[in-house]
Amino acid sequence: RNGIHIEALRKSYSEQTSGEVHYIIKDVDLVIKGGEFFILLGPSGCGKSTLLNIVAGFVAKSGGSLRIGGQEVERPGKDRAVVFQQADSSLFPWLTVRENVEFGLRMKKTPKAERRVISDRYIGLVGLNGHENKFPKELSGGMKQRVQLARVLANDPEILLMDEPFGALDAMTRRTMQKELVRIWRETGKTVIFVTHDIQEALLLGQRIGIMSVGPSSRITDIYENAQAY
Ligand code: ADP
Ligand code: ADP
Repeated sequence: RNGIHIEALRKSYSEQTSGEVHYIIKDVDLVIKGGEFFILLGPSGCGKSTLLNIVAGFVAKSGGSLRIGGQEVERPGKDRAVVFQQADSSLFPWLTVRENVEFGLRMKKTPKAERRVISDRYIGLVGLNGHENKFPKELSGGMKQRVQLARVLANDPEILLMDEPFGALDAMTRRTMQKELVRIWRETGKTVIFVTHDIQEALLLGQRIGIMSVGPSSRITDIYENAQAY
């Protein structure tokens, strides 16, 4: 259904002066089943975000194949949404919490009453009841991150792409959000690719954990079944 097939995927760039070609990722092979919670684990700079952004359709691949549900994918789609590490760049500062969460629904012309029901549900789910009419600048970093998650969930994508989404949160909030995410994933059956450099977080959340190698021409070197999860 929402299975993701990645074959020989690579991303290269050319040095401006010398024209020399460098690979950020190279020969990435990966199959993720629909409904799976997959972790992409590796140190900073190994190319996790690059890979996630290719899957999102935000970054063009240089070679190889990316198929979702059997279809070759090159562009962003309604079936996928990204939760970034920093919420600030993705929230509209001139919209309230509720308006931010309802933004995608407005784009889809969801009727107002229905928008309200959906935004209430997800605002509640991320624990922001009572903050609906606040603007992003009135919120803490953790609260903004929760607004971002609520907005993505309100849009109901089949595939959640999460790029160190809880990395900037304090430990307590992070723990709460991790639990919420697992609960939501269980309830909705979404496919999740979750990027982290935190081994503890990987072991806590992922059904399978893919390890990305360090340095240039990075690829997924090992995949572990995580018996420890849940
Ligand atoms: P991670 O998410 O694992 O921290 P990234 O995917 O953000 O890694 O980056 C991997 C490496 O590729 C980094 O060294 C980064 O500086 C480099 N990089 C990312 N995008 C580009 C680009 N467009 N041109 C050149 N280098 C890039
Ligand atoms: P309507 O049912 O006519 O859309 P609303 O009460 O939902 O009325 O919104 C009133 C106004 O508030 C809109 O015309 C718009 O300018 C602004 N607004 C509310 N929510 C959003 C949003 N999510 N994105 C952009 N503008 C919004």
